[in-house]
Amino acid sequence: PAHGETLLEARDVTKRFGGLVANNAMNLEVRAGEILALIGPNGAGKSTLFNQLSGVDNPTSGDVLFRGQRINGLPSRSIARMGMSRTFQHVKLLPEMSVLENVAIGAHLRGHKGVLSAALRLDRQEEAELLNEARRQLERVGLGDYLNTEAGSLALGQQRILEIARALCANPCLLLLDEPAAGLRHKEKEALGLLLSRLRSEGMAILLVEHDMDFVMGLVDRVVVMEFGQRIAHGLPEEVQKDPAVLEAYLGV
Ligand code: ADP
Ligand code: MG
Repeated sequence: PAHGETLLEARDVTKRFGGLVANNAMNLEVRAGEILALIGPNGAGKSTLFNQLSGVDNPTSGDVLFRGQRINGLPSRSIARMGMSRTFQHVKLLPEMSVLENVAIGAHLRGHKGVLSAALRLDRQEEAELLNEARRQLERVGLGDYLNTEAGSLALGQQRILEIARALCANPCLLLLDEPAAGLRHKEKEALGLLLSRLRSEGMAILLVEHDMDFVMGLVDRVVVMEFGQRIAHGLPEEVQKDPAVLEAYLGV
């Protein structure tokens, strides 16, 4: 896609859980080649929106469009094939397997129902291709020296980057990350930020869900701020940071 082209769009996306309105007529747009941050305090509805956008869940009303096509209701496998990839928290690391195997398996499991059916259907050539692709993506994210390391022995920051390598195996033009910096040490956040900037310079668009405002400020191109399921501000990071509604949401001032 051309730089600046709209890739992903939420149009009046509303999600109710019983009486609770977790997303209330949310609008946002992610453009090719940018990093957009979706920020807001805990419970604001960010992960809920993330799930609607990535096809894991369906909006109660409203539409999600990817590259001009309505994707709500499509299986996540089809969405992945169109070029959107997200990190999956439920595809857990296999701590005793190598970094390389973890990425290859994670890539293969995307869109499959279970580990067994996936493993049984893999022939030797497919396996070789998966391992090649996994190696390529691990080198791309800077984990090329850890291919044979046990995944469980990696630092948390490196495990998060391994998750990103998994997501990159699908060759996406848009990457969706839900709080990749949560729980990381300062140095690890820096390394993650550098990786995301580098992916952007390679043309990758990224939607970054985050509640840590400091992490996003020097990094992202635009920000959408949520509170109580609604968009309360959007714009450039430096504008949003000064917005009275945003200060109130974060600091209660
Ligand atoms: P955030 O990611 O911004 O912290 P969430 O999207 O996880 O917020 O949650 C927003 C609100 O929706 C919260 O009040 C949460 O308890 C509620 N919620 C999220 N998922 C569900 C669900 N599956 N069923 C019921 N309530 C939910
Ligand atoms: Mg969340």
